[in-house]
Amino acid sequence: MIEFRKTSKQFKILNPLKNFEEDSTTFEYRADPLTGRNTTVIKSMLGYVSKYLVSDPTLLKTAVNETQASCPFCPERVNSKTPKFTKDFLLEGRIISGEATIVPNLLGHAEQSALAILSKKHYLTLREFKTKLLVDGFKGAMAYLKRLHEANASIRYPIFAFNYLPPAGSSIFHPHMQILVRDRPFYLAELMIQKSKEYREQNDSKFWSDLIKAEKKGERYLYRSYGVDWLVPFAPLRGLNEVQAIVEGKSSFMELEDPEWLGLAEGVSKVLGFYGSLGYSCFNIIIISGPMDSRLSHFDVNLRIISRPGIQQWSFTDAWAAPYMLWDGEAVEEPEVFAEKARIHFRKRSPKNSIDEAKIPDI
Ligand SMILES: [Zn+2]
Repeated sequence: MIEFRKTSKQFKILNPLKNFEEDSTTFEYRADPLTGRNTTVIKSMLGYVSKYLVSDPTLLKTAVNETQASCPFCPERVNSKTPKFTKDFLLEGRIISGEATIVPNLLGHAEQSALAILSKKHYLTLREFKTKLLVDGFKGAMAYLKRLHEANASIRYPIFAFNYLPPAGSSIFHPHMQILVRDRPFYLAELMIQKSKEYREQNDSKFWSDLIKAEKKGERYLYRSYGVDWLVPFAPLRGLNEVQAIVEGKSSFMELEDPEWLGLAEGVSKVLGFYGSLGYSCFNIIIISGPMDSRLSHFDVNLRIISRPGIQQWSFTDAWAAPYMLWDGEAVEEPEVFAEKARIHFRKRSPKNSIDEAKIPDI
């Protein structure tokens, strides 16, 4: 069954910032309940790095203005500067879904790589990533995946990924989502699917249902809406304000229906709004699907979202050697403390936190 295993260690120093009094730092080793991967929670790290997490407003404004002049995703250039799908794949060349436009990626991270250009505006603050804009992107991406599935069913492992602004890995400012599809899963997707299968075999129970049940009344749980559960992971992957979502009972994007896409979009919009309230401007998201051609009884669609450092003169990065190259997780704050802050923000923004599922708007 689900285990939340952690061990605390102390490191003592004579601290020059406290007149060389004895001081100690707590390092908490946490094992991911599914994979066993270690994440070290370093409790005082957030205060140490927080000045790097917000953007310099002057630099940000300059970068927005300079990149807009030649941006291929802005409405006046999107038709002449972005690639089209080949005519045998899609006669129209591009997919339009509300405000979103789906185009092939000029140079992507997978053998089938497309982009959902999410907005007409070149730059959005994190509070401007509204639910409708994300729903348009998800629905356009699904139209692409369905066409791809018809054309070549062997390319069956899709991921949706967001890199927003250069500190999060994006070379183009304009808000967009990557649609990465391969004939083989990405490493983390394969690990999660495989470990979920092992858990099912060992416990005769589904890991993701057990996790939601274990977390639901606990201090890391956030809320449930439209069939999607939101929580802060016990052992974050990267640990900078990380939030996880689970679409219970749905193993692949192909099984998701409008309410679940709405639930994901609404949740992403809420979390980004929270990041915006903290002064952040950059983020990454991954949404992991099982194979498109089967229903797995042991896996559920999973989302992770993290904030990234801001745009600053010294190009600070949180891709330190330990988490980036040694494959360990590292969290700059206790997940339970971050979850409490998120809950307080969500309560302030939306007094009726759970939305009546009977009132699903037409999307
Ligand atoms: Zn643009």
